[in-house]
Amino acid sequence: MKSIAILGSTGSIGTQTLEAVDFLNDIKVSALTAGGNIELLERQARKYKPSVVAVADLSKAADLKLRLADTDIEVVSGQEGICYAATLDEVDMVVAAIVGIAGLSPVYDAICAGKDIALANKETLVTAGDIIMPLAREKGVGMLPVDSEHHAIFQCITEKKNIKNLIITASGGSFFGKTPQELENVTVEDALNHPNWSMGRKITIDSATLMNKALEVIEAHHLFNVDYDRIKVVVHRESIVHSMVEYTDNSVLAQMATPDMRLPIQAALTYPEMAEGIAKPLDLSKICTLSFYEPDRKTFPALDLGLYAGKTGGSMPVVFNAANEAAVQMFLDGKIRFMEIVQLVEKAMEKHTVIPNPTIKEISEIDKKIRGDLNC
Ligand code: NAD
Ligand code: MG
Repeated sequence: MKSIAILGSTGSIGTQTLEAVDFLNDIKVSALTAGGNIELLERQARKYKPSVVAVADLSKAADLKLRLADTDIEVVSGQEGICYAATLDEVDMVVAAIVGIAGLSPVYDAICAGKDIALANKETLVTAGDIIMPLAREKGVGMLPVDSEHHAIFQCITEKKNIKNLIITASGGSFFGKTPQELENVTVEDALNHPNWSMGRKITIDSATLMNKALEVIEAHHLFNVDYDRIKVVVHRESIVHSMVEYTDNSVLAQMATPDMRLPIQAALTYPEMAEGIAKPLDLSKICTLSFYEPDRKTFPALDLGLYAGKTGGSMPVVFNAANEAAVQMFLDGKIRFMEIVQLVEKAMEKHTVIPNPTIKEISEIDKKIRGDLNC
């Protein structure tokens, strides 16, 4: 029986991973971790009886220990505790579902410990893809994409040598078709109202700005080792085609499925086998139309900004990501307007002098500095 650790078990991907675990019924949950939601973490711990639970927020550790005092579950805390949970001997696979760069060091440690990774946390590859992918190859661990676009590409890559382009689909987020003027005064509520997916708050805002697509282009570059010029983005409102691979002979393979994150999660959990699906079958005759558009790069400059960060490489994607994480938090807290998110990211990038090949320690320092500069 495969044994897993779920990092970020209380979030959108984390809870859907547990739904897939319930459905598959042959996976052992050995570790669960959360940022701070110890009420849900306690309920999950009582149901799945892992060996270890970890909470990142140190101020909640004592309370969590008290809540689980009648069990023999080991309770740990802080960043160290999360890394401990990610590297437990009994764990075969780590589901990386923490949001943001906080997910990087546990994934790094898990790979060092030889664990396969089911990767939802795109920020890991955005900030440290040049370190993580070679490390994964060196350690012989599987990097199984959970992001639906990357899972789709993974499925569509039948042979490595004749790939012409990767074509990533974008839903367009909450503000597809809007003009910059119309976006001036949109609210947090408007931005969180995603048409097709129910996700965590940060990624939902990233979808509205198209930052999410920019992050995904960088993620795809690292995962599939394809040049940025050969990674295209196309808006596809229905979120049925999850991404495509175009081959040398101009044939295009697309992966289609109902928009349900439990499908790529399940695929990563069961890899290399395929199990009966938890997601609903796709009925194309009910969908009728699949539409595709060029992204509006003027209204949503995040896409080109991300491309620039990726192509520049070195520490620039770290700055891109850190400024975005900080700015999204400021927007969610009502401190800045929607359009200022991308403006703050651009300013942070303009001020930055690129460091080539930053180490994990340098990445963490740059991340902290950028957040500090933005007062976050
Ligand atoms: P979420 O906000 O719903 O959940 C995040 C999880 O991380 C929670 O369990 C939270 O407690 C934990 N966490 C937050 N800060 C932490 C910290 N500092 N240290 C430790 N744990 C912390 O987010 P989500 O939507 O599930 O997204 C998780 C990751 O998956 C993101 O990187 C996102 O881009 C990616 N992803 C999500 C979806 C989706 O449908 N939700 C789709 C594709 C990719
Ligand atoms: Mg995605």
